[in-house]
Amino acid sequence: MLRINSALLEEIIANVEHFSDECCGFLFGHDMYGDRTLTKTMVAKNVTQGERHREFEIAPLDYLKAERFAEQNNLALVGIYHSHPNCPAIPSERDRLCAQPYLSYIIVSVMNNKFADIRSWRLNADFQFEEEKINN
Ligand SMILES: [Zn+2]
Repeated sequence: MLRINSALLEEIIANVEHFSDECCGFLFGHDMYGDRTLTKTMVAKNVTQGERHREFEIAPLDYLKAERFAEQNNLALVGIYHSHPNCPAIPSERDRLCAQPYLSYIIVSVMNNKFADIRSWRLNADFQFEEEKINN
């Protein structure tokens, strides 16, 4: 389960809502045996060389910065969020191939620049995505 308070939820939505390109960022918080609480998000730049409206990539240096930020603030890097403009909040095959075990992947569906849906996904032992319940 992934706990997000409404202020953080609104922050994530505000970071992605009015963009026709995929937006992305880091999710920090605490993990208690797989039960996660988010406390902070951080915007990351989408550096994909592909089509920005349907894929995203975060630079390796940004991952390092996020890891360091987590360490310095006594947090864990527990996930990544990204948006799906005009697509449902379901991971693409590319999302699955690029995903890392352990991390939670929040996908925000944005339809016509308006928030539509938010879901979270995590890889299982067979490297398939399973939905993770989001709670306030
Ligand atoms: Zn995606």
